[in-house]
Amino acid sequence: MSNAAEEQIKRFSTMDDNIPARDRIIAWPRMGRIDIPLKALLTNLGAKIVIPPANSNEALEIGVKNSIEGICLPYKLNLANYIMALNAGANTLMMFQAPGSCRLGNYTKMAQKTLKTLGYEFDMVIFDMYRNKMIQTLHAFWHVTRCLNPWKYYKAFSLGFTKFFAIDCAEKMLLYYRPREINKGDAERCYEKWLKIIDDCNSVFLSKFLCSRIKNDFKKIPTDKKKNVPVIYLLGEFFVLLDPYTNQHIEKELGDMGVEVRRQIMFSGWLEHVLKPSLFYKKESHRERAVRNASKYMKRAIGGECIETIGDTVYAAKNGIDGVIHLMPFSCMPEIVSQNILSKVSREENIPVLSLVLDEQTGKAGYITRIEAFIDLVKRRKLKKR
Ligand code: SF4
Repeated sequence: MSNAAEEQIKRFSTMDDNIPARDRIIAWPRMGRIDIPLKALLTNLGAKIVIPPANSNEALEIGVKNSIEGICLPYKLNLANYIMALNAGANTLMMFQAPGSCRLGNYTKMAQKTLKTLGYEFDMVIFDMYRNKMIQTLHAFWHVTRCLNPWKYYKAFSLGFTKFFAIDCAEKMLLYYRPREINKGDAERCYEKWLKIIDDCNSVFLSKFLCSRIKNDFKKIPTDKKKNVPVIYLLGEFFVLLDPYTNQHIEKELGDMGVEVRRQIMFSGWLEHVLKPSLFYKKESHRERAVRNASKYMKRAIGGECIETIGDTVYAAKNGIDGVIHLMPFSCMPEIVSQNILSKVSREENIPVLSLVLDEQTGKAGYITRIEAFIDLVKRRKLKKR
């Protein structure tokens, strides 16, 4: 047996087997709407779950109180999600560790230690994305559910994955239609309606049609075809991009200002990149495109989404995008590096870039004022070009 395989078995065996599968109540950190597909996945394997409340000021307060000051904002919210879930009866916490040379690799160990110090009893199940991702993922789900029924796995994974893609599809449509709608709120209502339908769908067959039905429904929204809508790429750290509370609902703010947002990091894209073997990629992945475009400024990835931020900014400039907004949590190591390189990229590629740093001290008024000033600049620049 190879060393890697032996190590893998050792890692599996460190999971706590004291909690029988029938007594497990599973929870995971909140980030945008990942609760919808994860709920489908776990409940179809027969698991009991607790979904902690969506991120809020209350969660932030709990996270800040129990974390060291300098740690990044996503950790504080993840920790608060765990505490709230444990208080609601959870006894099994799920978290993934992904490749990259930033603090994400330490999140689980730090959270485990803090929660034990606070007196909580639980089992932490880690999806290690460093190697054998598919085996790790299947093993983690088997470990918490002890389900051995292949049909249940097929149903759970099919539903989970199609729901991830359907949510991203609805989000993309919302981002396109919000700045163009004639009746304010139409796109938002359509999006909320579809989130509910996606959540309620429990048929593998019907779930395959979700995306096309969502697109057709959004197309019925009356829009102003002549409106001059600037297009902005939204880039930066994964968590702050995907969690609307953490980014202070920036996509909605920009949409209401008449700007189309094209977020470059979508959960389904990331999932595909992480879980799908590169052998099955028919076209260049987002990551590969970013690495290719960033090569003038950066020779290798240094963790987080740093190389995507640089590569996507270059790509935006080459493709006539009007501007880039870069989001980063305070003290995020990879994004501090990209923030410093971005000023050069902006100058050399001739594209306006605004970097916004987010933490628990970020005030809404100042944040919005900076975005408004940037959008004014982008709009004037666009007019001048025309
Ligand atoms: S990418 Fe940045 S914010 Fe995210 S875990 Fe790493 S250091 Fe923290």
